[in-house]
Amino acid sequence: EKTPVTLLGLGVMGTALARTWLAAGHPLTVWNRTPARATPLAAEGARVADTAAEAVAANALVVVCLLDDTSVDKVLAGTDLTDKDVVNLTTSTPAQARARAEWARQRGARYLDGGIMAVPPMIGVPEAGGYVFYSGSPELFERHQQTLAVPAGTTYVGENAGFAALHDVALLSAMYGMFAGSAHAFALIRNEDIDPEALAPLLADWLVAMAPAVHQTAEQLRSGDYTKGVVSNLAMQVAGTPTFLSTAEQQGVSPELLSPYFELMRRRLAEGSGEEDLTGVIDLLVH
Ligand code: NDP
Repeated sequence: EKTPVTLLGLGVMGTALARTWLAAGHPLTVWNRTPARATPLAAEGARVADTAAEAVAANALVVVCLLDDTSVDKVLAGTDLTDKDVVNLTTSTPAQARARAEWARQRGARYLDGGIMAVPPMIGVPEAGGYVFYSGSPELFERHQQTLAVPAGTTYVGENAGFAALHDVALLSAMYGMFAGSAHAFALIRNEDIDPEALAPLLADWLVAMAPAVHQTAEQLRSGDYTKGVVSNLAMQVAGTPTFLSTAEQQGVSPELLSPYFELMRRRLAEGSGEEDLTGVIDLLVH
């Protein structure tokens, strides 16, 4: 007997989630503000509720996947959440997630917040590697993990309801740093007789080769010794920065993506940290 699921929100992501539960044989009740979006799912076996309140009443497990925290507020306002297991997959900030957890607790519900590390085509495709960070009620997570694992992998990151959102934003922030670096790299070759499609595989392989450096950073943060295992120390790296800036200038490329990071490296060096790794930059960022 598969756990019945209620799903509020049939946007691109909600619809992808819905299809995986239907395909896995979970009874599914759906609701969406714009009813037309539920029509194809009804044909695939979903029960379509007329109101969010009716959808919530149908099952103990209530999954929410709406645009933002404001829409969650609007949609759940008129529903009875007493004794419900609410799983909110709507992207939010850690503070919004914690406030929503407290809000749900006051209404008699258990609460789990989720941060989806996947795009819709990765949902229901285990080999694509997508997963969802969860934080909040450990009881809820344990009770429903199997059902939650149907659309994507599950990674529980703690009882603090804000931690799923925090992990989500941390990973995506690092991704933007990677995109920024790649943008600068492509800009450097833009006006040359170099094929971007020839650079791309070199770039991808290099980023993958450099990625494990995060393990040494973590180890240094844990031990407090930022000189442990250093291969390329800060003094040497700062000495190299003019090469990067001059090359950008020669190529007619703005240094605006690189400069802020170089500036932090210089500030850390000025504090007498030449023998360290780049880890000390983190301390300059944290207030
Ligand atoms: P869509 O824009 O496709 O869908 C938004 C959903 O929210 C629709 O069901 C829409 O209803 C509903 N909605 C918006 N405003 C309101 C409101 N005021 N009242 C009631 N319902 C409302 O977004 P996605 O499905 O792509 O995203 C859903 C969540 O998943 C977001 O929080 C997003 O950040 C997250 N996510 C999405 C990813 C993606 O790649 N798509 C990746 C990771 C996370 P209606 O149909 O009536 O407009």
